[in-house]
Amino acid sequence: MITKGLPLPPLSTIGILGGGQLGRMLAIAAAEMGMRCHIYCPDADSPAFDVSIRHTRAAYDDLDALTRFAQECDVITYEFENVPAATAAHLAALRPVCPGTRALAISQDRLQEKQFFSSIGIEVAPWRPVETADDLSAALAEIGPQTLLKTRRFGYDGKGQVRVSAGDDPAVAIDKAGAGPYVLEGIVPFTREISVIAARDAAGATCAYDPAENIHRDQILHSSAVPGDIAPATAKAARVIATRILDALDYVGVIGVEFFVIRDGEADRLLVNEFAPRVHNTGHWTQDACLISQFEMHIRAICGWPLGSPRRHSDCLMTNLIGEDALQAERLSGEPDARVHLYGKAEVRAGRKMGHVTRLLRPVR
Ligand code: AMP
Repeated sequence: MITKGLPLPPLSTIGILGGGQLGRMLAIAAAEMGMRCHIYCPDADSPAFDVSIRHTRAAYDDLDALTRFAQECDVITYEFENVPAATAAHLAALRPVCPGTRALAISQDRLQEKQFFSSIGIEVAPWRPVETADDLSAALAEIGPQTLLKTRRFGYDGKGQVRVSAGDDPAVAIDKAGAGPYVLEGIVPFTREISVIAARDAAGATCAYDPAENIHRDQILHSSAVPGDIAPATAKAARVIATRILDALDYVGVIGVEFFVIRDGEADRLLVNEFAPRVHNTGHWTQDACLISQFEMHIRAICGWPLGSPRRHSDCLMTNLIGEDALQAERLSGEPDARVHLYGKAEVRAGRKMGHVTRLLRPVR
């Protein structure tokens, strides 16, 4: 990664593709460091617009708008991984885009992601590429009987995923999963799901937060507990794997890496589920339980500032406020040691992430 022009001085402009809550919290962190954010998003009601000095409302394939946006930015980042490859390439020719286009491309395609993990010796769930119903039958025979058929692209929060068991009709499963191609994954008998938020700067310095233990409900993240019930050796191994991914990608910025923990005799084994080339919902706890949040860490990394410490000063529990949960925000904010974060979304919808609450449980000594 090029370090020329770094560190960016205060009042530099950070371009952010995507205007959701992650962009909003990045922009707030950037403002606290004296930086300015320019949000690029096609949606009129983007939560990040409210907290940024400038925004462009245009389509991701509007090359003229992208060029004008890039010309106003010193560095460009993104808050979602489905930025079209052509958009990222266009911008990368004009300004530094962090994390780079390779991390973006790999994270967009579950097949490339699995191949990447294998290439650097990281264990994943058993998997097979699938395009047709015949492929699915053959793959099911090899890695069944309990599997998940996942679309290679555009899956999130369990969308684009179908459970397939031996004996199911492969054509029906393919139909249910949506547009292919796919990967078929063996269902992993995990004891818990954990994630690590880690960061790397342009000079190659890295750091990693303590892993969080994550609970999903209806395939949406419900809560993240830190430290959670994670053995120290497992926590260390997870941080090491996350750092290996960062180095292999020559990555700049914050990454979220999700793991399955499986019991293997007396020891834990870690399988990587996926990585997100951005700040991550399972890292929101860092806003209140660490000196430097994942949002500030990302801004520091892409601006070439020192990463700072990922040290956690408190044990904590982060709970998402989904749909009507957000109606409890004011009451929750009255709890001692709790802090409520709302994303400024006007319309409450079932399954929509409206905010989160962080509860500090006890200080770390
Ligand atoms: P994903 O979209 O791949 O992050 O999957 C969403 C959730 O589905 C994960 O957080 C797990 O709870 C579950 N899941 C995904 N893949 C597997 C697997 N191979 N085995 C067991 N559970 C899985």
